[in-house]
Order: sequence, then C-alpha cells, then structure tokens
Amino acid sequence: MGKEKRQGAYFKITPNPSGRMNPGDVACCPLVSNVGTWDEVKDKHHDWELSECPECGAGIWLSTIAVALIREGGRYACTKCALQGAAGGTAEDLKRIRKEHGHG
Ligand SMILES: [Zn+2]
Repeated sequence: MGKEKRQGAYFKITPNPSGRMNPGDVACCPLVSNVGTWDEVKDKHHDWELSECPECGAGIWLSTIAVALIREGGRYACTKCALQGAAGGTAEDLKRIRKEHGHG
C-alpha cells in the first residue's frame, strides 16, 4: 500500500460561471480550426471576436467574457496550448494582437 502518486498534470475544463480566474489560470479559447469560421459560429456566438493564440499564433475566438477576464489580469491561450500548460498571453498580448488585426 502507500500513497498513490499521480503523474502528470490534471486539467479540469469547466465553464467559468463565477467570471473569476485564479492565479495561474489560463482561459481556454476555442480554436477556429475546432469550432469553425465566423459563418459557422455567428448564430450561437454573436459576441465572439477573431484573434490569435499568443503562444502559437493559431486562429482563436475570444468571447466578451474571455476579454473581460484577460483585462482583469487573467491569461489566455488556445485550447491546445492551454492544455499543454502554456503560461498564456496577457492583456498586453491581447492589445498588440488586436492592433495587428485592426481593432485599434
Ligand atoms: Zn496556441
């Protein structure tokens, strides 16, 4: 007997109804390649904004909730990078990428 040691990290992926992030949390942003283009998501997610993952540069969707969390100091990355334990981008990255996309 003895204590079982878990190998590797355990990621719990849940919606975040509290609208709060804990230190070290990385918001998982859906990949365009996973959930689809604007034409495919706009009916369900009219608030989504096309952006890119600050870690790998893949196209991602940002919800208004995700943007608010990032602005409050949360970090973000695409689902793939977040699952791989990436540190994620900050509000500064969001600002820079938005500028590059012409959002001002
Ligand atoms: Zn990524």
